[in-house]
Amino acid sequence: MAFLSDAMSRIQSSATVAINSKAAEMKRAGQDVISLAAGEPDFDTPQNVRDAAIKAMSEGKTRYTAVDGIPELKEAVAAKFNRDNHLGVTASDCFVAAGGKQIIFNALVATLNPGDDVVIPVPYWVSYPEIARLCDANPVFAVADASTGFKLKPEVLDAAITPKTKWLILNTPSNPTGAAYSNDELRGLADVLLKHPQVHILTDDIYEVLVYDGGRFATIAEVEPKLRERTLTMNGVSKSHAMTGWRIGYCTGPKPLLGAMLNLQSQSTTNPSSIAQWAAVEALNGPQGFLKEWRQIFQGRRDLVVKGLNANTGLDCLTPEGAFYVFPSVKNLLGKTSGSGVALKTDEDVVMALLAETGVALVHGTAFGLPGHMRLSYAAATSQLEDAVSRIQDFCAKVR
Ligand code: PLP
Repeated sequence: MAFLSDAMSRIQSSATVAINSKAAEMKRAGQDVISLAAGEPDFDTPQNVRDAAIKAMSEGKTRYTAVDGIPELKEAVAAKFNRDNHLGVTASDCFVAAGGKQIIFNALVATLNPGDDVVIPVPYWVSYPEIARLCDANPVFAVADASTGFKLKPEVLDAAITPKTKWLILNTPSNPTGAAYSNDELRGLADVLLKHPQVHILTDDIYEVLVYDGGRFATIAEVEPKLRERTLTMNGVSKSHAMTGWRIGYCTGPKPLLGAMLNLQSQSTTNPSSIAQWAAVEALNGPQGFLKEWRQIFQGRRDLVVKGLNANTGLDCLTPEGAFYVFPSVKNLLGKTSGSGVALKTDEDVVMALLAETGVALVHGTAFGLPGHMRLSYAAATSQLEDAVSRIQDFCAKVR
């Protein structure tokens, strides 16, 4: 009898392991590596948020809390959803977990049966299909490639839905492409979803605050209130307040779903860290002025990177609306040979050769379900980005 469960054979470890271990090995050997493979802001958590955590510790707020979050945080979450997204919710419609990822995990494990379908636009954030597979459900991949600005088109969504579709997962702005849906684009998807009442929508809005060029963030339950009763709107402080290590995510959604998620979480991690919850109260209720500055910095970096990647490299990089990723096509490099003689057959060959020959670590598109691309995270200092872009340009210039 096998010791490990069947579920473990259905999921893969992170596809970025090879690239990260190679980068770490090169660093240990004293080589000059620039890693643009990470998915977290390079800023520090704002001081007022750190102070709130210290205060919570000093005041002894260090015990178990309610499973789905302290009332003060659920109030702050409801106020955020009402202020920014006009969702008209109360604290009792809100739920807190140890990161946005635990919200997604709870929701899928609480609802999926073997054989259920989950529609996932491609390219996707790596955890969506893996969690669906853990539940023995089928990820149904709906193409949202560069030809549509990496956005799901209504007709493609319609064709992907089956009677067994339980969820559609949306992520805007997107990891790995940075694409962000406009109000009108979500309207088109909402019209399709109104025809399919069996489909619930999980929208991962974790990059909400990072929309550039003055664009306005939109989320589907705001665009079509009739979908609210079957939408789980997920968000968190990881990216908005540079709090990836604190592990606080939150959501609002239908009460029966939140009740099931509460049962599940009560049998796994119980509550998220009490101290991190008090920090998150300050993050959501405190001043948000710093975000304007962060957005300006990220937008400047995005522009630098897109311009550099498109400058006679053979790469083809769209200008994304949000998040801190670009997802250029490497198709023009495939079938050729790198400067040091490596055959570039796949996008993984490209990122491995790029790392070996220039020290720049990126992630290949296949890891996100779309071969022929690579993901660059521009959550790094501008000087590092300039250096990385010029190394990428050198690498491309030597490809024959
Ligand atoms: N959703 C997306 C699209 C992400 O990129 C990430 C983190 O990289 C998460 C969710 C996870 O967020 P958290 O750190 O709050 O679990």
